[in-house]
This record gives sequence, C-alpha cells and structure tokens, in this order.
Amino acid sequence: MTAQIIDGKQVAAALRAELQEKVAQLKDKGIVPGLAVVLVGEDPASKSYVTAKEKACGNIGIYSEDIRLPAETPQAELMALVDKLNKDDKINGILVQLPLPKHLDEGEVLLAIDPAKDVDGFHPVNVGKMMLGQKAFLPCTPHGVIQLLLKSNVKIEGAEVVIVGRSNIVGKPLANMLIQKNATGNATVTVCHTRTKNLADHTLKADILIAAAGAPNMITADMVKAGAVVIDVGVNRVDDATKKRGYRLTGDVDFEAVKEKAGLITPVPGGVGPMTITMLLYNTVESAEKAAGLK
Ligand code: NDP
Repeated sequence: MTAQIIDGKQVAAALRAELQEKVAQLKDKGIVPGLAVVLVGEDPASKSYVTAKEKACGNIGIYSEDIRLPAETPQAELMALVDKLNKDDKINGILVQLPLPKHLDEGEVLLAIDPAKDVDGFHPVNVGKMMLGQKAFLPCTPHGVIQLLLKSNVKIEGAEVVIVGRSNIVGKPLANMLIQKNATGNATVTVCHTRTKNLADHTLKADILIAAAGAPNMITADMVKAGAVVIDVGVNRVDDATKKRGYRLTGDVDFEAVKEKAGLITPVPGGVGPMTITMLLYNTVESAEKAAGLK
C-alpha cells in the first residue's frame, strides 16, 4: 500500500486564505496586525526563513518590519531593541530568529519579549501556560503539526504517538500539547531521544510517528508500523552535486521506503514547513485582535 501524502502546502494555503480574510476584516476596523522580525548575523538558513516569513506576512496583508543586525551586535543593543518593539503599538508580534550568534544570551532575549507579543510561543510564561492547559501562544511548528493532523482527519484522541526529538521548540512542546485533556490532545505520548534504548521498539508501536531529530533519513521503513501516520519535521541540507545550490533538503524519514508502509505521510519540503509560517501568521493576527480588545 502506498501512503496518502499530506500536502502541507495545500493545508497551509487554505488556512492562510482564512487569515487573509480576517486581516481584511480587521483593516476595515482600522487594525493592521504587525510583526517585527529580527535577524542577527548572516546564517544562510536563518536568512531564508526570515525572508519567507516576511513574504508570507505581505501576502496576507500583515505589516512586517524587517530588522537585520550585524553578527557582532552586543547583548545590550539587542535588549534595547526588544524593549523598543515591546512598546511599539504597530507591532503585535516580535520574532527573534534563532539561533543567535554564540556571544548572545538567547534565554535573556526571549525572556525580555513581552509575553503578549511572543508569537513564537517561546517565552516561559507562554510555555508555562501551555503546559497548564491555559490559553497561550502555541509554538508554531508543534501547532502546525497538530493542525496538519486535524485537517487530515487523523484521530489524535487515544492514539499512540511517538515523537523522536525532545527540543524546546519541537519535541517537548508537541508532547505537551498532545497530552492535554482537550480536543487536540488526549493522546498517549512517548518521547524518544539519543539516550533512548532500542528506538525501533518504540517507533513500531506508533499510530502517529513524528520525527523531529534533525538526522537525515534516520526513520527507515522497518521502524514504522504498517498504516501509521508519519509526520516528518526534519529539514536537513545534504550535499548534492546535481543541484545548482550544491545541496538538497531532506527530512528525517526515508520517504521513498516509508511511504510504501505508512498510511499517511508528509513530504520534505512541502509538509510541516509551510505550516510553521502559517501558525506564526495565525498568532500575529490573534495578538492584534487581543490588543484591540476583540478577543
Ligand atoms: P535539535 O537538534 O534541537 O533537537 C533534536 C532532537 O532529536 C534532540 O532531542 C536529540 O536528542 C534528538 N535526536 C537527534 N538524533 C537522534 C537520533 N539519531 N535518535 C534519537 N533521537 C535523536 O533540533 P530541533 O528540534 O530544533 O529540530 C529538529 C529538526 O526539525 C531539524 O531538522 C530542524 O531543521 C527541523 N525543524 C523544522 C521546522 C519546520 O518548520 N519544518 C521547524 C523547526 C525545526 P538529544 O536531546 O538526546 O540530543
């Protein structure tokens, strides 16, 4: 059986169309959601993410402010910028692109962002609220994964979910969201990492297998239960001399082999990636609505 492909681009496009409509309605009320995107340094992957985020904002009518700082920017300067953006009424969302250059204290920067403008959902206040099941900005990639499952009519409640990866931006929040006692939770979740013994023993039990390890093609067909839903969060650059840019993007899942065994599967690119940006737009619009007292 060949798996059905979950088309992240299509799901994202539908959600963005809804958001565009909402932004137009807000504009009629004199409200324009605004996102500030801060990039420190020249990391090529970060640069392309930031450009994609700004373009996506423009496409649906969100105002975006593009702030690019040199790699050697001191901590105090970045903190002053965050403070200024916190006070700027045009800005509803502040996104500081990670990772920051090594000399900067990421934790301190994230902590300085006003939780009401933390559209990445990384501030400890939002992380804590999410964990407690309270309303909060949800981190974009995990939220995007859940939306993909819902829009693909995958039943999360009662499912055995195995997540490979326990980072603060993907694995941990996703596990947390999936165990919440709510309509998008109620799953039984196992989180695996590099110290997990016999990884395949776990992955083979998964009704929903989510790979977020950053290890190209590590999930092979023999690690997947027949008919499972496989979500590939991984985005890895692997050398490819046949490509003009010298590399190609690949996920954490051996897509060609696993698609012959899974029931549903996301491709890379075109799976989770477009959803991440969409959920960022979603949070920015929601933040603008809250700031205007509409929510
Ligand atoms: P991190 O490097 O922060 O975390 C990776 C996690 O995977 C760690 O918990 C690590 O375990 C675990 N891991 C790595 N290799 C293995 C292995 N061989 N077996 C078991 N566990 C393993 O990565 P991120 O969470 O930031 O990102 C994960 C992937 O998702 C990356 O490819 C990244 O590019 C991609 N990504 C994609 C996004 C999108 O929008 N599509 C957004 C964000 C990330 P341990 O903790 O023990 O080290």
